[in-house]
This record gives sequence, structure tokens and C-alpha cells, in this order.
Amino acid sequence: MNADQFNALCLPATATLHQALEALNATGRGILLVTRADGSLQRTLTDGDLRRAALSHVPEDSAVSALPEQAPVTVGLDAGLPTAMAVLDKHQIDHLPVVDEAGRAVDIMFRRELSQRIWLSSPHLGEEETAFVEDAFKTNWIAPLGPHVDGFERELASYAGVGHGAAVSSGTAAIHLALLLLGVKPGDTVFCSSLTFVGSCNPILYCNARPVFIDSQPQTWNMCPQALERAFEWAQREGRMPRCVIVVNLYGQSADMDALLAVCERYGVPLLEDAAESLGAKYKGRASGSFGAIGIFSFNGNKIITTSGGGMLVTNDAQMAERARKLATQAREPAAHYEHIEVGFNYRMSNVLAGIGRGQLRVLDQRVEQRRQVFDIYRAELADAAIEWMPEPEGYRSTRWLSCFTLPGTDGQSRRDRLLRALERHSIEARPVWKPMHMQPLFKDAPYFAHEGGDFSKACFESGVCLPSGSNLTQEQQGRVIDQLRRALQQAGARATV
Ligand SMILES: *Cc1c(COP(=O)(O)O)cnc(C)c1O
Repeated sequence: MNADQFNALCLPATATLHQALEALNATGRGILLVTRADGSLQRTLTDGDLRRAALSHVPEDSAVSALPEQAPVTVGLDAGLPTAMAVLDKHQIDHLPVVDEAGRAVDIMFRRELSQRIWLSSPHLGEEETAFVEDAFKTNWIAPLGPHVDGFERELASYAGVGHGAAVSSGTAAIHLALLLLGVKPGDTVFCSSLTFVGSCNPILYCNARPVFIDSQPQTWNMCPQALERAFEWAQREGRMPRCVIVVNLYGQSADMDALLAVCERYGVPLLEDAAESLGAKYKGRASGSFGAIGIFSFNGNKIITTSGGGMLVTNDAQMAERARKLATQAREPAAHYEHIEVGFNYRMSNVLAGIGRGQLRVLDQRVEQRRQVFDIYRAELADAAIEWMPEPEGYRSTRWLSCFTLPGTDGQSRRDRLLRALERHSIEARPVWKPMHMQPLFKDAPYFAHEGGDFSKACFESGVCLPSGSNLTQEQQGRVIDQLRRALQQAGARATV
């Protein structure tokens, strides 16, 4: 429902019953919002109310205000979905006006809409996954390893243009193994992008190593090469050179790999590429995930392709890949009696899930196109809105895993929160941009190197929004998101100028 459609539901209390009937007929929502001269909501008016008025012989030309008084059932702007649902159920109604502090109707929630939630990023299966999974069942290769694991490793490594892959149970597990392969020991320092999901850096703590966080740059929203340089200068002074640098590719877009690799190479420190969110993206024509000494991908449920849960470590170093597979299977030595020399993990991917992955990989390029199209529609439809889309610099090809924007100007965080609440009222799952790691209580003692122009990841978090971006988002669903977003942005603008 857009702003015009909402305004058409609002009827002045001075209108006649006949006018109300016409408005109900024209809007077709089964409800009108009767407003007083001061804009406050007097009551709601339904087909049933008008039918009862006709049966009691109230003349058609009397004003709506002549009907028996009836206090409307409403919720406030802060009401969440569970509260709204409870009110709808309690009163056995299907629509619920939302009123502001002054009692004005500013929105309306519909039961039907609430039951048709629009997700941020939901799994989207193709046609071949079931065939691969059925094959796993038929051949009884259900439990760990098997031909689909080998096939998935081969096919994904080839897609990414990297020599070898090791399929594991999650992207986080892949990062943990990568840190061990790069020799991270207790007490070591590890640099990591601050603007990311905690899965990027929890493994630093698993290794009892010490994280140092690096800010992003506005051009890419990814690690800022200058901030990285300053972190290295500091590390050199402190005698705390990092064992590796975890560079995250956020929301489907590569970081500036040329610049970051140049800094890392100058200091002789390997780069670990967290490409969990950027599978299918390109940087200067080369696949994202192929730039670091090790790259990792995630196939978690909300990622661009999914195995319901899983991850992959990729590298050109055959020995490293072999060692990753060993560490992921309890570090078992090649002996029939299960010999163990070092600590290992139970991190391998199962053959069934690898089958899903092989099917998903076949539709990956299509999923990239679909996500990019979702973004293009948002950008075209909201061209005049006061928002700044996540940029895609020349030479980068993002998958637009999530369509994200920031709200320019001051007071971004409270405007962002109002906007998210407005979308939530229509059962649209949108989210703030990741809360940076240097702002997390878990990492409060970790050093942080900000972008020279100011703390970019903090600003990005405070005013940033991620929109529903699934490759299976229908046009009708996206239309709903766009309508609500436009209204919410207009309201936020109106409020800011009051
Ligand atoms: C999803 C994600 C991970 C972790 O992947 P899982 O498979 O969920 O463990 C790591 N880093 C980033 C940036 C992610 O988005």
C-alpha cells in the first residue's frame, strides 16, 4: 500500500454515510479511518457499520459523526508484530490502525499481510538438488564424505579459479581451520575487518589469539588500505606483527584486493579472504575468494547459495587443502587404528549436503543475476529518495547479496530505527547494517584503526539498512517493500522538518 492508497482510507468525520460507502467501494480494503479536524483518529468504519446504519434507517446524507460512538482498537508506533497479532486476535479483527503520539492514524496493519512475511534472504533451490540428494540416498552415501563432497570441492574450486577446496560444516569452521593453517597460535595478533558478521572473528578467539580491527572505506564498505597500513605501522612499533589479515567482502562485494594485497605483501603477512558473502562476485574480472593465501565461503541458509549449513576453504596450495581436510576429520593419521598426534575437529561436510551444494552451484550465476536485478529495481524505483546505495566501483562486480543503503544527514540511527519499525509493521524483514566488531562488548578491549575521514563502519552501521534481497523475491513482494519504504522515508522526512 502506497501513500496515496493509505490517504484514500482516511475519511473526515464530516463526510456523509453515502460518501463513506463510495470510499469503501473505491478502496476495497473493507475499512476506512475516520479522522477529526485535528487529524486524530475518531473511529474505524467497516462495511458492517454501514450495513447496520442502513438497517437502523440512518439517512445516507447524515454525517459519519452521527453514528453511535465506537472507540477504535489501535496500536502505537512502537508496537511490534507479536503485540499487533495479539490485538488482532483478541478483538477478532483483520485490520489495525497505527496511531502516533497525537492520536493521528499514520499507518494500518492487515492480518493478511502479516501472515505473508517477506524475508531478508531466503533459500532458493533449483531443480537439480533433489537429484543429487536422491543419489546420495540411493548409493547409501549419507554419512560423512563420499563422492558428492569430492565433486563439490572440485566444482567450487574450479568456479572460483582456485586449485583446491575443502568442504566443511560452516564458513566459521573454514575460517578457524584457515587460521590454524596460517599458523595462528595463542597470543598471536590477527587483523580483521571491523564491519562484518561475528563469524569472521570468533575463530580468532577459538585460537586464543588477539584481534585488532580495521575500519572500512566508503568506496567499497570494505577494509580501508590506509587504515590497514597504519595498523601495520603500529604493530611494528609494538612488536605485535599479525600472523594474518582477515579481509571481509561485505554484502556481495569484493574489497580492494590490489591495494590490500600490496600492503600485506610489503609486510610479508598472508591475507585470509572471508568471501562468505561474496561467492559469485568479481574483482577486476577475477572471482572473489581467489585472492588470499586462503579463501573461505559459507553456504549458510541466508547466503546466495546454501547447503542448509556448510562452508568451503579454498587455496592453491594442495598441501594446505589436504591438511584442512585432515584437521576437519579429528586430525586422524593414516592408520587403521586411529592414530592421533595433534588436536583435530569434527568439521567435515556430509555427502548429502554436498549434493545440495552441487545442485546450487549450477544455478549460482542465475542467482547473481537475480539479486542484481532486485537491486536495480530498488534503485530505479527509489531514484528520488534521500538514500545512498552501497557503491559498486568501476572494475567491481558485486552479487548484491543484500541491497543496502545509508540515510544521509544527522540523526541517522533514530531515523533508521523508525524506518525498520515501519517495515516490520508490514511484516517485511529488513535489518541494520552489521554492528561493527570494535563496537561489540565481546571485543571492547581490541585495538581499532579507523578510516582517516572518521569512523566509517560506525556511521555505516548507525544509518545503514539491508533490504529483502532474495533471488526468489517476487515482483509483488518487492512492490510491497518499495511502497512501504517510500512511505516510511516520506514520514521520516516530514518528521525531520516539523
Ligand atoms: C555468514 C558469514 C560467516 C560465517 O559463515 P557460517 O557458514 O554461518 O559459519 C563468516 N563471515 C561472514 C562475513 C559471513 O557473512
